[in-house]
Amino acid sequence: MPVLKLNWGKGADTIVNNGHTIQLNFAEGSSLMLGNVKYKLLQVHFHRPSEHMIGGKNFPMEAHFVHRSEAGGLAVVGVLMAEGKPNPAFGKIVKTMPAAEGPAVKADAGIDPRAMLPQRLGYFHYPGSLTTPPCSEVVEWLLLTDPIQVASADVAAFAKLYPMNARPVQKDNRRYVLRST
Ligand SMILES: [Zn+2]
Repeated sequence: MPVLKLNWGKGADTIVNNGHTIQLNFAEGSSLMLGNVKYKLLQVHFHRPSEHMIGGKNFPMEAHFVHRSEAGGLAVVGVLMAEGKPNPAFGKIVKTMPAAEGPAVKADAGIDPRAMLPQRLGYFHYPGSLTTPPCSEVVEWLLLTDPIQVASADVAAFAKLYPMNARPVQKDNRRYVLRST
């Protein structure tokens, strides 16, 4: 498996409750290399429950880090979120997320997107589509095989705003049901 070439900075620019999810937007300077194509990190948003399953297992949440190339292609890094040890970055997001839909506000400077990555960056790579509206765009999916852990209290706080904002997992659809080897 090729190494995932992430070059992310350590802060987010703004945080927004957009009526579909909580999203953090990033300023210029964070990127991902896929082959020799550079994708810039635009935003990360969250789904509850996870949209992907691994080995038939569903997760409480999933983060989608959305990147875009100069040519307009999208690449999404998916991170499955299990309940366990608190994740300081996700904890700060939950503490500062706007409770109601509204405009983007400055994000807490302590929110480091790199802290929401597992230690091992193994991943599944497949073409698919975007799961939040609009769903028609073609996307390179990079789903990390290892989940991260977040506090169950933080999942519960997110669930108060968005109890169910994932597209239902489609059985036997290879785009959503993946098996680690
Ligand atoms: Zn998404």
